[in-house]
Amino acid sequence: MVSLGCPKNQVDAEQMLGVLADSGFEFTSQQAEADVIVINTCGFIESAKEESIEAILEAARMKKVGKCRKVIVAGCLAQRYKGELQKELPEADVVIGTAEIGRIADICKQALSAHESILQVSSPAMVYGLPRVSTTPAHYRYLKIAEGCSNHCSYCAIPAIRGAFTSRPAASIIEEARRLAGEGAKELILLAQDSTAYCDGVTDLALLLKRLARVRGISWLRLMYAYPGRISKALMGVMADEKKICKYLDIPIQHFDDKVLAAMNRRGASGDIRKTIGELRKRVPGIALRTSLIVGFPGETEASFKRLLAFVKEAEFEHLGVFMYSPEEGTAAFEFGARVPADIAADRLDRIMQAQSKISLKKNRALINTQQTVLVDYLEDLTLVGRLQTQAPEIDGVVYLSETAAEPGQFAEVTITDATEYDLMGIAKARRRRTACTKEPNHLSTG
Ligand code: SF4
Repeated sequence: MVSLGCPKNQVDAEQMLGVLADSGFEFTSQQAEADVIVINTCGFIESAKEESIEAILEAARMKKVGKCRKVIVAGCLAQRYKGELQKELPEADVVIGTAEIGRIADICKQALSAHESILQVSSPAMVYGLPRVSTTPAHYRYLKIAEGCSNHCSYCAIPAIRGAFTSRPAASIIEEARRLAGEGAKELILLAQDSTAYCDGVTDLALLLKRLARVRGISWLRLMYAYPGRISKALMGVMADEKKICKYLDIPIQHFDDKVLAAMNRRGASGDIRKTIGELRKRVPGIALRTSLIVGFPGETEASFKRLLAFVKEAEFEHLGVFMYSPEEGTAAFEFGARVPADIAADRLDRIMQAQSKISLKKNRALINTQQTVLVDYLEDLTLVGRLQTQAPEIDGVVYLSETAAEPGQFAEVTITDATEYDLMGIAKARRRRTACTKEPNHLSTG
């Protein structure tokens, strides 16, 4: 299985692996050894589509040089382009939609005995509660709380791919959280296209977080993809009060110019964004904010870009990602005139990143000589690599530890000793251990 795209897609990949494992399929990390290669694609923006197509073509090459007999294309690209993809890429033997992942084992078996290509793409639907094979270290796991999106931002193809927003029943989220904790998860990362829209009719997001915080074994709960116009006082309250909820929020604002925000069909104007950021900083002391931005949106002038740049400097986000606008057919913005030339968009992206790197360096340097709790993720070249609760896995920076006083999956108390714009360096306090000391038999020494 090759899985591309965001962590939400990764959960689908884990569910497909779980279903396949339950049906007796075995996995290999070597494509050349696989009988069937499943590509879980991403189809959100142009660069993701290109990456997905390359992965399909690489898998098709394995049919010539390896054991591979069938290539199965799943995920967002398959959902979005369906028969068109099958027609344009005959290398794909099977094309299945996002709602079909629970039937992946049957589809694999069917494909192995079929001579014709197979197309099974139904309307998007939320699929949850399937067995999962972890693709992350066992101590942090992604947990989907909703599927789809009803916000219809004018540039975004997700509502067409994933369907309308649907909340997953809280009981099933809690049940899965308990299961993941039983498998060793210490950190749960809650995912949705718009997590702040969560409400299953009875339980809203604030209440869900409170209930998840009671799951034994879970130490950190992290919330991703919060829509700025939907962050309630109740949510801020629970984030401030509940120790297990990471002081971290991913809040994609996309832009800060009112005309651009309106053209993007974003809920709320710049004043609302400023107010929300200010309230989050005030009500949840120590919170780290991550945002995503789009530059080069149709109609973005130098003046509107400068408003965005000024706000980036003012808001001082701890983490920031910026993308160049990608025109996606089928979205409202695809029809907009006044497209911004790619070189201008690229220059604006650089200017944002230059401003942000100074902010990130300043924020990281402020942590030098402070004591922090680090969750150790992995060992790399004899160096332990972990994260603070203000760093999400795979997208934010990390903490490199010079003392190997903990193991992956454990928490360590760390003194931060140095910082770059992305990462931190630290020394973990050695774990206390008994020394051989005959005179003072109860003496404990750190060493
Ligand atoms: S909130 Fe907007 S950008 Fe995010 S998934 Fe929904 S439509 Fe797309």
